[in-house]
Amino acid sequence: MKSLKAQHSILADAHKQIEIIEHGQNGDFALVPFQQKLEQSNLYPLKPTQIEIFQVNIGKMCNQTCRHCHVDAGPDRREIMTRETMLQCIKVLQNNPRLQTVDLTGGAPEMNPNFRWFVEEIKQLNRHVIVRCNLTIILANKKYYDLPQFYKQHNIEVVSSLPFYTQDRTDRQRGNGVFEDSIKALNMLNEVGYGREETGLVLNLVYNPAGAFLPSSQALLEREYKEALMNKYGICFNHLFAITNLPISRYLDYLIQTDNYETYMEKLVNAYNPVAAANVMCRNTISVSWDGYLYDCDFNQMLELKVSCNSRHISQFNMNELNDRSIIIGQHCYGCTAGAGSSCGGAVA
Ligand code: SF4
Ligand code: SF4
Repeated sequence: MKSLKAQHSILADAHKQIEIIEHGQNGDFALVPFQQKLEQSNLYPLKPTQIEIFQVNIGKMCNQTCRHCHVDAGPDRREIMTRETMLQCIKVLQNNPRLQTVDLTGGAPEMNPNFRWFVEEIKQLNRHVIVRCNLTIILANKKYYDLPQFYKQHNIEVVSSLPFYTQDRTDRQRGNGVFEDSIKALNMLNEVGYGREETGLVLNLVYNPAGAFLPSSQALLEREYKEALMNKYGICFNHLFAITNLPISRYLDYLIQTDNYETYMEKLVNAYNPVAAANVMCRNTISVSWDGYLYDCDFNQMLELKVSCNSRHISQFNMNELNDRSIIIGQHCYGCTAGAGSSCGGAVA
């Protein structure tokens, strides 16, 4: 268990993280405030365009403890969304037809005992469902072996992180043996038809950099991944999402431990792209935490920055009020606006 403990975020306290993100480790690190950049781009205050994506974190429990996890998830986390909170989510979906996409995340969302029931209830409302599946969960226990069939039966879009197409880089970030199991799981998904154009069963992969650097071109990486995975393992998938690591949670720990925090932040600020800023995901997404609170995004959720309006909990969900709020921003937001931008669906610019 030593490695598990070691990988848990040292900076679990959200307030401490915000202090460091804003002012550096010694409190004297000053970069152009993100707000100023938005003002120059005529985007401040940052407002939603229209909320269409309902992202729900149904628990922090995970079978893995990846080095860069911004959720600080792991097998010993006990925060799990209850069926009561799920019922409140379903009620919100019934009352808000503009919420066409439901994006289920975790932890490993499949570890929530009500996961399958929740998916089936949402599909009855005729919504597009995305599941952020970490791949290895499919092989973690025999009760998960049929997940590919379950996904297929409900036409779920599967989005899976595979930090790289080689074993060493993937295992370094996600743990020993993860690459091998991920390849097996991808084969199982391909076998039922995922990732093949003709079936319409969508399988997208996610790349994120292994160190303190920004992702290179998403299109180029996608080509490289497709070639490498097909040639070596016969695996196909639809698209690759290249995601920038945001300086929070375990990745912030990593930046501090390797003395890379300030240079990484400078890279993000220098790569600020106003087009990416106009398209940040918090403008059309609302993020629900395992205990039903509402956030602008998954990252603000981890920093415990709840939405800035009266609809702060799923039980108080008011679409007009949420569409009218100002999004809470901070220096971590530079991670979403650098280069081609970054979101749960990859580049945005
Ligand atoms: S699989 Fe995902 S949620 Fe689980 S520890 Fe890794 S990054 Fe975090
Ligand atoms: S970190 Fe969240 S609030 Fe900030 S720009 Fe990104 S999505 Fe929006």
